[in-house]
Amino acid sequence: MKTFEELGVAAPILKAIQEMGYENPMPVQAEVIPYLLGEDNDVIALAQTGTGKTAAFGLPVLQKIDVTNVQPQALILCPTRELCLQIADDLNDYSKYIDHLKVLPVYGGSSIDTQIRALKRGVHIIVATPGRLIDLMNRKVVNMEGVRSVVMDEADEMLNMGFTDSINAILAEVPTSRNMLLFSATMPQGIARITKQYMNNPKEIVVGNKNEGSKNVKHISYMVHARDKYLALKRIADYNPNIYGIIFCRTRKETQEIADQLIQDGYNADALHGELSQAQRDYVMQKFRVKNIQLLVATDVAARGLDVDSLTHVINYGLPDDVESYTHRSGRTGRAGRSGTSIAIIHLREKGKIREIERIINKKFEPGVIPTANEITEKQLLSLVDRIEKAEVDETQIESFLPAVLRKLDWLEKEDIIKRIMTLEFTRIFKYYAEAKEIETIADRPRGERGERGERGERGGRVTTPGFKRMFVNVGRMDGFMPNNLIELVNIHIPGKVRIGKIDLMKSFSFFEVEENEAAKVSQSLTGTELYGKRISVEIADDKAGGSREGGRGGRGGRDFGRRSSEGGRGGRGGRDFGRRSSEGGRRSSEGGFRKDRKPSGEFKEYSRSNKREGRNRY
Ligand code: AMP
Repeated sequence: MKTFEELGVAAPILKAIQEMGYENPMPVQAEVIPYLLGEDNDVIALAQTGTGKTAAFGLPVLQKIDVTNVQPQALILCPTRELCLQIADDLNDYSKYIDHLKVLPVYGGSSIDTQIRALKRGVHIIVATPGRLIDLMNRKVVNMEGVRSVVMDEADEMLNMGFTDSINAILAEVPTSRNMLLFSATMPQGIARITKQYMNNPKEIVVGNKNEGSKNVKHISYMVHARDKYLALKRIADYNPNIYGIIFCRTRKETQEIADQLIQDGYNADALHGELSQAQRDYVMQKFRVKNIQLLVATDVAARGLDVDSLTHVINYGLPDDVESYTHRSGRTGRAGRSGTSIAIIHLREKGKIREIERIINKKFEPGVIPTANEITEKQLLSLVDRIEKAEVDETQIESFLPAVLRKLDWLEKEDIIKRIMTLEFTRIFKYYAEAKEIETIADRPRGERGERGERGERGGRVTTPGFKRMFVNVGRMDGFMPNNLIELVNIHIPGKVRIGKIDLMKSFSFFEVEENEAAKVSQSLTGTELYGKRISVEIADDKAGGSREGGRGGRGGRDFGRRSSEGGRGGRGGRDFGRRSSEGGRRSSEGGFRKDRKPSGEFKEYSRSNKREGRNRY
């Protein structure tokens, strides 16, 4: 398999996708990228969501943009507002290091005037739903003359939604000399007509198979001390603000207890198990289906009656006794072409089961590291920003109140307003996580093994680049340590050229990579030097007991990561798509819905998992 570089992806895009954790091209990318980088090459791809198609068309489209020529050069059509925003977001991420490149999503249901103003300011790529684009074309505010690439994503969906005429009208306006790419999950007659009329000898490719759901599932294991399992669960939920998932527990008792505790801590959760009446179960399932519940805590048996395709996560709160059940659990996510994540929160004694499961699913678990307080806070903040950005504004509702509000806020700068919103939304989470102790993730692999796998965990559980050694240094972000400090230290204290690989800055310590043959020299030369008055110590991380940082924060210089913290509640998460907020500042209905006023709870009591006592209680 070729690398992105070998496929012809240019340096600034490479840098951005590497930061996103894209290490190797997915099959559709390997096929499509080099082809689309050529001129006048058309492609029809039969591909589902989750196959990596956005980058497959996005990277070549971005690479071909001439930023100095401010006019639309690429047009991406897709059926829905959500997809439109998602594609625009992805393109923005991929083009992080291309200065001044402008991507504009245009879709129905939001202010056309704002979109017109943005078009007038100048854009390079338009991501559009067909209806809104036609509106804009009729108003003569879109200039199609410079369009060199056209992408139709989920083309079959666009036809199903009745956009055939709009698509024909749009394509008729686009210059004939351009690359055109059509993605579709099925190939109905309507698509054949479009391809015949507008495409030039297209290359046809088929990616994946409709029913290969399990291929889209990433498996991550977090190994923690038994006493930290619940805290780990909460951190994982907090780190994924848009999580919509099932937490599988082994017994009815545990299911109810975890659900109760989550509700008490302010999560949007509920329990599903056999002790509930049929009517209660139906009610919970219905609430979950319509996303009034974000986290469903369930036993295996009770969850069988539930068919939901759009789960983002399945969480195994401990592994099932019967390892085969893991396949059923994890198969509930990654469905209908979507990608999903199956997480196992386990303790040391379950390590053997992980190996058994790996054999059955024929896939390796990625070792996850419990997110730090800082990482969670950052993720939550970005999620809020994202919600603000994507909020569907009801212009008519707001219109009459707006002047008064604007008058009142007139004295505040934009930055002040943003700061205030963040403070209001996050006081609790800032406070809670500022005080929370970190949770130790226990190393689960022999030393060095992870370094060879070339993978990243869900939140960047990094592994060493082949040919490099991972080094530990005793300064981190809290010391003000930045990558340029490391480079300066190396330049000052080590003669000759030293290649530095990935740098991971942690709170109070950091890791960086150097070429294997330089590792000893770097350690010797830097140890004993000073930075900000602190004595620097650099060691080869792999040589330390406990393996790499990915698995073992504990074990470093007497650091006390292992202790049970007293963390209980969590701050408001915003509850984005999960139900309405009432006017009382975020409290939802009493049905266990989203509440903004989560209160930190006290210690979470440890549940006995004695089979003898609870075995009969299953389901
Ligand atoms: P898509 O089919 O474009 O929606 O992509 C599915 C998921 O795969 C998204 O979360 C992408 O960020 C991710 N993804 C796409 N390409 C890669 C890659 N080469 N390596 C890792 N993840 C990828």
